[in-house]
Amino acid sequence: MYPDEFDYHEAGSVDEALELLGDHAGEEVELLAGGHSLLPAMKTGLSSPDVLIDVGGIDRLHGVSVEDDALVVGAMTRYSDFLDAEAAHEHAPAFAAAVGAVGDEQVRNRGTVGGNLAHADPASDLPGAALASDATVVVEGPDGERSVPAEEFFFGMYATALGPDEILTRVEIPSATDAVGTYAKRASTSSGYAVVGVAVLLETDGETVASARIGANGVMDHGVRLDAAEEALVDESLDEAAIEAAGEAAPETLDSAMVMDDLQASAEFREQTLRVYTKRALRDLREADATVAAD
Ligand SMILES: Cc1cc2nc3c(=O)[nH]c(=O)nc-3n(C[C@H](O)[C@H](O)[C@H](O)COP(=O)(O)OP(=O)(O)OC[C@H]3O[C@@H](n4cnc5c(N)ncnc54)[C@H](O)[C@@H]3O)c2cc1C
Repeated sequence: MYPDEFDYHEAGSVDEALELLGDHAGEEVELLAGGHSLLPAMKTGLSSPDVLIDVGGIDRLHGVSVEDDALVVGAMTRYSDFLDAEAAHEHAPAFAAAVGAVGDEQVRNRGTVGGNLAHADPASDLPGAALASDATVVVEGPDGERSVPAEEFFFGMYATALGPDEILTRVEIPSATDAVGTYAKRASTSSGYAVVGVAVLLETDGETVASARIGANGVMDHGVRLDAAEEALVDESLDEAAIEAAGEAAPETLDSAMVMDDLQASAEFREQTLRVYTKRALRDLREADATVAAD
């Protein structure tokens, strides 16, 4: 299928992109990042923008660095470039595990971290990991820059705190070099997207879990924290009993009426899969790192 006609602009800088957004206010405008969600939507007629502003070539939006105890990821950093950066795995283990689970090699060679978060597909892999990693999303607009905690960024299906005149420029992830993290995903057999995905970041004091952050994708219309599962782990040894309790608690703080129920999976299946994949993620962490205590 062919997309409808559109005007194409290549922005050389964030300022230029913002100016273009201003010039085309009121029209249907999309930013083109990796194009791996936008272009399929245009080709199938789900999206028909009048104007595309290509932000993929803006240098300052690329790259991974460590600044002031945070991993800073430029919005246009491709998944594969993120995964090639050693610092990404060292400082953001849960987020890195989720990036590694996105699509296949071709998708990871084109799609971008910022495009994924801005698109906010409920079945994508990064929102839950952004929540588990306590990430902050930085956006720029006509009034300057603002920082939005991941907790306040995702609203609903394809809905975020981004304004129509704003650009997501980078993601800041607090350095978690003392933590262990992982991502467990039940992938759709047809698309590879997450039916359910669970990202976990744990800190231990050697014997017990000192802090736990768990985020999930695919269950609700946006990424969510699993508060009850986190609470079940803190001050516990990461033994089988604690893992069972956390997994069983995983859906407890979610509004069950809002759990997604569609052709991919029923709400009941999703809730049960959430329990199972929370336990899998925790067992993976226990097996991978002896410092998180054993049975
Ligand atoms: C075959 C296939 C399999 C896939 N499997 C998975 C998977 O398993 N898991 C997964 O998470 N994803 C998957 N994806 C989606 C992929 O990860 C996309 O790359 C991602 O969803 C969007 O990132 P992008 O850079 O391609 O953005 P684009 O498609 O270019 O843009 C997506 C949307 O975000 C907006 N946008 C982009 N960048 C910005 C910005 N900087 N500021 C503001 N708005 C912006 C655009 O306007 C557009 O509306 C898959 C895609 C394909 C084609």
